[in-house]
Amino acid sequence: MSDFNIVIVGGGTAGWISAAFLSTQLPLTLGRPVKVTLVEASDIPIVGVGEATIPTLRQTLSACGVDEAEFLRECDATFKHGIEFVQWRKTAAEAPGEAYFHPFGEPITVANHNPARQWSRLGVEERGAFADLFSVQKEMALAGRAPKSLQDRAYDGALPYAYHLDAGCFAEFLKQRFRKRSVEHIIARVVQVNMTEENNIAELLLDDGRTVNGDLFIDCTGFVARLINADNKNSFNSKTDVLFVDRAVTTRVPHRGVADIKGFTRSTAQESGWMWDIALQGRRGVGHVYSSSHVDDETARQTLATYLNADPQSLESRKLDMRIGYHQHQWRGNCVAVGLSSGFLEPLESTGIYLIEMANWALADMIPRFASGANPAARYNEIMSNHYENIVDFLKLHYCISQRRDSAFWRDNTDLKSIPDTLIQKLKTWRDNIPSIYDFDRTTQCFSVTNYQFVLFGMGWPSHVAPDTDKRSEIAAMLAQLAQRRDRLRQFVMRDTVDNKAIFGALGIS
Ligand SMILES: Cc1cc2nc3c(=O)[nH]c(=O)nc-3n(C[C@H](O)[C@H](O)[C@H](O)COP(=O)(O)OP(=O)(O)OC[C@H]3O[C@@H](n4cnc5c(N)ncnc54)[C@H](O)[C@@H]3O)c2cc1C
Repeated sequence: MSDFNIVIVGGGTAGWISAAFLSTQLPLTLGRPVKVTLVEASDIPIVGVGEATIPTLRQTLSACGVDEAEFLRECDATFKHGIEFVQWRKTAAEAPGEAYFHPFGEPITVANHNPARQWSRLGVEERGAFADLFSVQKEMALAGRAPKSLQDRAYDGALPYAYHLDAGCFAEFLKQRFRKRSVEHIIARVVQVNMTEENNIAELLLDDGRTVNGDLFIDCTGFVARLINADNKNSFNSKTDVLFVDRAVTTRVPHRGVADIKGFTRSTAQESGWMWDIALQGRRGVGHVYSSSHVDDETARQTLATYLNADPQSLESRKLDMRIGYHQHQWRGNCVAVGLSSGFLEPLESTGIYLIEMANWALADMIPRFASGANPAARYNEIMSNHYENIVDFLKLHYCISQRRDSAFWRDNTDLKSIPDTLIQKLKTWRDNIPSIYDFDRTTQCFSVTNYQFVLFGMGWPSHVAPDTDKRSEIAAMLAQLAQRRDRLRQFVMRDTVDNKAIFGALGIS
């Protein structure tokens, strides 16, 4: 039987994850030999950012047969327990240091109660922080605790976790491994995409004069979307009317070693965007993401310098544009876009790499159908647009329920006109009811009831609750039970995890 030929164009995170995943997983689902070729231009750099991930990456790396210890060592990676959001609800002038935590994992439950609902019936000031009461993960992250012990199997641990990683090292790490395994690597630039009348790619012409043919082409060329939009006829669903940030200025700063590693992303709201702060093993990655309609580049750079207490003149930084939205047709003829060529929705909840993973998981099931003559494009496009729309709502949630009105950016973000109808409907429901699993009907939910609860409650939603005074003793009993359960979970986690230092020490990382 002839090989099924997959040609991936692009050697960034999307290209190498796709090469790793499809070359490992497709032979299990296709029933036919698979040949994967990756074409990469040497003179077009990868975007080189994308340092924060969510827990799905563990399953994806495991499915690629990647060794977790090698990955941690070579990608400068650290463990991530969640995200801390600072000054998202109010400005530093109004509430200095105000912050909430969005951990991975489910809130703790208590038998015979609906604890989140009961908790939300308390007045805002007397509630206590939801994430502190219902999860131990923030405490573990702040204490420098790893989510696992030295005995845990790869990708497993007492707590759910993701990673912070160096994007450049990650692409290189996958390249080194999968070139050795089975992926053919061609270094050349695609200069022409020859299409058939049915919108299929007939062949790619490279700058060294070679042509490349394939059964399926995966476009991982980044924002240029060189293949999926080769004829400029693929419409783009821009989301800039909802999500305003479209530019970033980034830098790297040294830290003092493992002791300085915090197991969470810190996201600090700014006048016209927000700042990410991530600790890898060897350095911090810091970036200011902002709306170019609300602030100019120089002011944004100064905001980054101020955050770092650095001299703006000597600060080395890089500016990046972001195209916010996604292509209508992610699968078109015999071409599928994966990564930034498919779309991008700002890095607030680390969904860029997640979308690459989801594309690949879907492709592992759908390519065999395509190979046997069916056309799964419509279903695939529906799945991916569901992913994007779900993420749009969740990202917008962080902005639109803020009480900040200190700048045009926040006033515009909280303006009803900028909030998708789907989110408005949910928020109406949640003024008097807490989020329920039944509010989420899409099959492709990255963010669901748990995530919405952590963010909504973290942001002080709903703020207008008239406390249920006649239920106070019942709620107090529930809270006591909750505290007991939390304490037991804490003991269990402390017993079954070690601190970051021990894990990195065992890996030979100082
Ligand atoms: C500011 C910012 C912050 C981000 N933060 C996060 C984050 O915290 N978490 C997260 O999950 N995601 C994040 N992302 C998204 C993440 O960076 C990307 O999803 C990821 O890096 C994938 O990029 P890519 O491989 O699609 O594109 P790129 O890295 O741009 O790679 C494109 C590749 O295509 C090649 N190429 C282009 N044209 C041609 C051609 N004609 N011929 C041959 N090769 C070609 C290039 O050489 C390159 O190898 C962030 C993105 C931005 C912009």
